[in-house]
Amino acid sequence: ETEIPESHPRYESLLTRHRIEHGVDIGITSRQGLIAQGRGEAYDYLLGEQTIESADDAARAAAAHFLLADQAVVSVNGNVAALVPGEVVELADATGADIEVNLFNRTRERMEAIADHLREHGAEDVKGLAADGEIPGLDHARAKVDADGIGSADVVLVPLEDGDRAQALSAMGKTEVVIDLNPLSRSAQAASVPIVDNIIRAVPNITRHARELRDADEAELRAVVDSFDAETALEAAERAIRRGE
Ligand code: ATP
Ligand code: MG
Repeated sequence: ETEIPESHPRYESLLTRHRIEHGVDIGITSRQGLIAQGRGEAYDYLLGEQTIESADDAARAAAAHFLLADQAVVSVNGNVAALVPGEVVELADATGADIEVNLFNRTRERMEAIADHLREHGAEDVKGLAADGEIPGLDHARAKVDADGIGSADVVLVPLEDGDRAQALSAMGKTEVVIDLNPLSRSAQAASVPIVDNIIRAVPNITRHARELRDADEAELRAVVDSFDAETALEAAERAIRRGE
């Protein structure tokens, strides 16, 4: 493996790329995951590889939703597991959320490899292997979830989710938080809270907001949630990408 000097102007980006490659090598990330990462990088480049203000607002709204939730679940796929395994565990710890492995191309082997990987990063209970629940409106292979995980959650965080599944989850009436660098993707469009930011920055940012809001009462949390508007945030992200503002 090549060493990247920290002085490299795009150090973070190259590091991220290496994490995905490693994820493929150890069998947690699919080859399609490499392509998804490439699409994400292109948008991140246009955003200046930084968290724009509207994405920070979205991360704060997401944190408030997590703290208000009866049951919040963080959905983890192969890219998420490769890029932010420890950060996902920290978010779950800070908010009391569950972690569920949820793959577009589900194989028992990869499900287990990801669950093991998350446990190596400190996760205690990893859901997703029971697959005894279903998201209505999707074909069988794509629909599987844990009945006591994503199936029953009122708030779900689905980073880098496929558009069809994002739409089906939102049709179930769940509060859906999506992390996706493409504000035009169907996943971002379907979300109650779209966070247009790199998952590398977005997950720790939600955790930071959750810690800050830990002592807030319900009225304060509701105010954070109500002051966020998804459409305005998506428009701001698109402007940032198109015009660099
Ligand atoms: P649609 O949702 O419209 O079907 P798509 O097929 O391009 O769009 P997917 O393959 O479902 O999207 O998911 C990949 C998405 O994840 C892309 O929109 C990509 O920009 C985004 N993405 C990839 N890597 C990252 C990352 N590191 N952080 C945030 N988003 C990312
Ligand atoms: Mg998508």
